[in-house]
Amino acid sequence: MRLLIAEDDPMLGAGLRRALQRAGYTVDLAVTGDEAMAATRAQAYELILLDLGLPNISGIEALKALRGRRDATPVIIVTARDRPEQKVEGLDAGADDYVVKPFDLDELLARIRAHIRRGEQRTSDALSAHGVSVDLAARTVTVAGEAVAVTAKEFKVLATLMRRMGQFVAKEELEGALYDDTAEVESNTIEVAVYGLRRKLGSGLIVTARGLGYTIPKDA
Ligand code: CA
Repeated sequence: MRLLIAEDDPMLGAGLRRALQRAGYTVDLAVTGDEAMAATRAQAYELILLDLGLPNISGIEALKALRGRRDATPVIIVTARDRPEQKVEGLDAGADDYVVKPFDLDELLARIRAHIRRGEQRTSDALSAHGVSVDLAARTVTVAGEAVAVTAKEFKVLATLMRRMGQFVAKEELEGALYDDTAEVESNTIEVAVYGLRRKLGSGLIVTARGLGYTIPKDA
């Protein structure tokens, strides 16, 4: 589970990152709005914690841009701005939740778990293309209604590509979906998983383009 923290306060950002890592998440930290935007374009996250007062691009602008790309990643705004109209602006811009600093860490962790669960349910029936369906919660794959057995690595690659349907995903990013940053990745892991998926699910499902990576094209 990979989360993004967009927070320019170094103490708070580092503290949150440690707490979330202790809770078992892989965490990226962005300290400007630009960095947050770049991170969300390069990488799929299970959830984003978003400060509103960020350098370069404000949290609200970053959130609007994210939703403008039809990216439905759950977003919790974490901010000191507690006026009702500020909450309304954040929620209207597409945030899923709004937490005011200073916050209780256990409550924030519970909200993160709840939104990740909800996000998985929301996307579970949407992950379907070319006759192939992926159920993220049940971790099952079906082709034309028939269950197909896939390996854990194949499942993660397929789920990542389904979530980003129509976009190319770089091999390095698929590797990142399989492993934490620290783990060794065998150089042909993704090729092996894609080969297995094509054999089991049909050769046309996953398209490769040199220099861009892999994609599942949108259904016509
Ligand atoms: Ca700030």
